[in-house]
Amino acid sequence: MFIVFIGPPGVGKGTQANMLAEKYPMFKISTGDLLREAIREKTTLGERAKSFMERGELVPDALVIELVNEKVSTTSKDINSFIFDGFPRTIEQAKQLDGLLLSKKSSISVAVNFAMDEEERVTRLSGRRMCPKCQRTYHIKFAKPKIDNLCDYCNVDLIQRSDDDEAVIRQRSSVYWEQTRPLLDFYDQRNLLQTIDASRNIDLVFKDLDNFVANLKK
Ligand SMILES: [Zn+2]
Repeated sequence: MFIVFIGPPGVGKGTQANMLAEKYPMFKISTGDLLREAIREKTTLGERAKSFMERGELVPDALVIELVNEKVSTTSKDINSFIFDGFPRTIEQAKQLDGLLLSKKSSISVAVNFAMDEEERVTRLSGRRMCPKCQRTYHIKFAKPKIDNLCDYCNVDLIQRSDDDEAVIRQRSSVYWEQTRPLLDFYDQRNLLQTIDASRNIDLVFKDLDNFVANLKK
């Protein structure tokens, strides 16, 4: 079974993928993790990817697909289900992924669109704070420290990661949707798209996901 999770940062895709992978024999594939792992282990693909990144270029889709192929092919046979977390991002990647799965006599089972109001998402991301000493994370609205802007454990000032700056979030968001919105139609036309209201609490979102998976297993 191959499941695609679609949604920008901050909608909880990674958390939900981890929860599914804990409940079922499933493996979460995030291409960011795959790239970092391949580079760290200095594999042939990793070395090729690194050369693009060092030149400040995007890693080509074909190379990313090769990495995915390697992971799917070498993962234990007991785990025959995969969750693609935030991949594919473009129609071109989706087509290449379809080709790869077809060569394995398989296909995407469902594409889950994690829908969240944009303002809600910006609030969630831009409110995150981190302790520079112990790396604990807080949220100015949802997980406040006991004393404003101070780590409960280290008593040092919390910081905001540059990724969580509101202007950065909005800029990345417009790039993301420009590339990724056509993907929703792509999967919808194939009757594979399921939209989930990701603004609810984690357990309710997981219940919906779990239902999708249970139905697919029937
Ligand atoms: Zn701390």
